Amino acid sequence: MSGPVIVAVDDDAAALRDVERELRDRYGRHYRVMCLPSPHEARASLENLAAAGDEVALVLAGQRLSEMSGSELLDEARHLHPHSKRGLLIAWGDWGDRATGEAIFDSIAHGRVDHYVLRPAASPDELFHQAISSLLLEWSEAQRALPNTIYVVGESWSGRAYELRDLLERCAFPHAFCLADSNDGRALVAEAGEGAKLPLVVMPDGTVLMDPSNADLTRAAGSPVDPEGTDFDLVIVGAGPAGLSAAVYGASEGFGTLVVDQGGLGGQATSSSLIRNYLGFPRGVSGRRLAQQAHEQAWVFGANFAFMQKATELRREHDGLSIALSDCGRVSARAVLLATGASYRRLGVPALEALNGAGVFYGGTTAEAPAMAGQHVYVLGGANSAGQAALHLARYARRVTLVVRAQALGAGMSDYLVRQVEATSNLEVRLGTEIVGGGGDGWLEHLVLRDRAEGREQTVDADGLFLMIGARPHTGWLPAEIDRDAEGFVLTGTDLRDRPAWRLDRSPFLLETSMPGVFAAGDVRHGSVKRVASAVGEGSVAIQLLHRLFAADRLHPRGRPKEPAVRAGG
Ligand SMILES: Cc1cc2nc3c(=O)[nH]c(=O)nc-3n(C[C@H](O)[C@H](O)[C@H](O)COP(=O)(O)OP(=O)(O)OC[C@H]3O[C@@H](n4cnc5c(N)ncnc54)[C@H](O)[C@@H]3O)c2cc1C
Repeated sequence: MSGPVIVAVDDDAAALRDVERELRDRYGRHYRVMCLPSPHEARASLENLAAAGDEVALVLAGQRLSEMSGSELLDEARHLHPHSKRGLLIAWGDWGDRATGEAIFDSIAHGRVDHYVLRPAASPDELFHQAISSLLLEWSEAQRALPNTIYVVGESWSGRAYELRDLLERCAFPHAFCLADSNDGRALVAEAGEGAKLPLVVMPDGTVLMDPSNADLTRAAGSPVDPEGTDFDLVIVGAGPAGLSAAVYGASEGFGTLVVDQGGLGGQATSSSLIRNYLGFPRGVSGRRLAQQAHEQAWVFGANFAFMQKATELRREHDGLSIALSDCGRVSARAVLLATGASYRRLGVPALEALNGAGVFYGGTTAEAPAMAGQHVYVLGGANSAGQAALHLARYARRVTLVVRAQALGAGMSDYLVRQVEATSNLEVRLGTEIVGGGGDGWLEHLVLRDRAEGREQTVDADGLFLMIGARPHTGWLPAEIDRDAEGFVLTGTDLRDRPAWRLDRSPFLLETSMPGVFAAGDVRHGSVKRVASAVGEGSVAIQLLHRLFAADRLHPRGRPKEPAVRAGG
């Protein structure tokens, strides 16, 4: 039989029998199941499969094997079959064993193993199958072999075909690309019929679009572009994690909610292939999947969405707020949530971009720092954020190297931070240096540094790289009334204390901006944590604040008739 292979190895004969029974019964029709009693045989089979060019979807290995540990074998499997998913088989209760626990943490943290899987118990063991089918789903997602995949056919990988792929990626739609002169591409062009114009998009229901506009493609994929109605309780600008969370809570609590986004779903989170630090996803979750599920959840609660709509203006009109959208006029709302996030400047080194989340991190260090204990990590950046990140990491890492393009640290960093950096013994600074390369096998292993003055390059070992090269908030379109910090991030709540921009005699609510009734959540907010979980948390908190705002209707500017002043909101 052909087809992708599932390999399982365990030298506990009874345990292997149980695994084999469950795998063959449930997956035998679509996968070739190979169950092997020793790591030696498993290694030989994996080598043969690699030599034959066979696709291995999943490798399962018991942790306690006689000749080598399961995690060592899975590490070898990773080299032979880099796309395969790898699960460490453990017995019930094994997690209480210190050595097994450490093997699991270490292997997952370094990308050798995707997750652990409990050996099956009584048949059918649905818990076992849930773990297996999750791993197989992740594998097929990475192979772009999901059902309902949208195909883009183009003459080259770049140009309009690339823009369409990028759009589908941002809308979190499964998609695949074929060159027009490939076998698949020729077949799809032939199916489209005479006069087919490239780039061509073939939808899962067979509809063919020829060189579609962004809006046409979005509509054809079943996503709304035009809002249903013009008057809402709440308009959320941005469908990243903060906006989606606010949409779920806003709609579920009965607010007429519209979410607008200039692109698609998920914001920056969609650039993360595996978010490992989001609550409730011990195996990690791709940003795309998280966004899809959050969108579905908000939609089921009745939230409205309008994609491909950029908010271009916000102003107060009568007692409400009015938002201009790029392609469909204006909508009005009693309250607005700004969840427009920020864009990180990217390093642009493909080998390092590929290790995003696997030793290479953009933005905040809070979540990852403890995992850097005993390691040598690099921080790239010369501003205060980089200095703070380096100091924070130095509390955990064995050694931290701060790589700065400028020739002096004081060029971009506050003096107090410069002094702290200089006084930290395990923190060194490399001035006049940039990062031009690097890589690793599943996890960052090395970086290439270049001396900017002399052009000399040096390859160094590295366990982590934190990129703090600047984030730019999407706030240029906001009115001057919305107070922002020097970098453009929106000030909210207590940040506005003593700022002249706040005009009411009540205090602003926690996430309220200087424009009463307009809130901000997530990365766009000054001082935010720059993480998915905190953006989601802020999105939900914003909705609680709306209840308080609407209950008291405390939007009236000073000088208008109003009820007795209520004590500070936030
Ligand atoms: C490469 C990468 C990897 C990351 N990995 C992790 C990770 O592993 N774990 C983790 O916790 N965090 C991670 N982060 C950080 C995380 O993605 C962000 O903190 C989070 O996405 C912020 O959510 P947000 O909703 O505030 O903003 P965003 O995700 O930035 O979403 C903002 C949305 O607003 C839209 N928008 C902007 N302006 C307008 C406008 N004028 N009109 C209409 N729409 C507009 C944008 O199109 C976008 O969809 C990563 C970030 C990057 C860049």
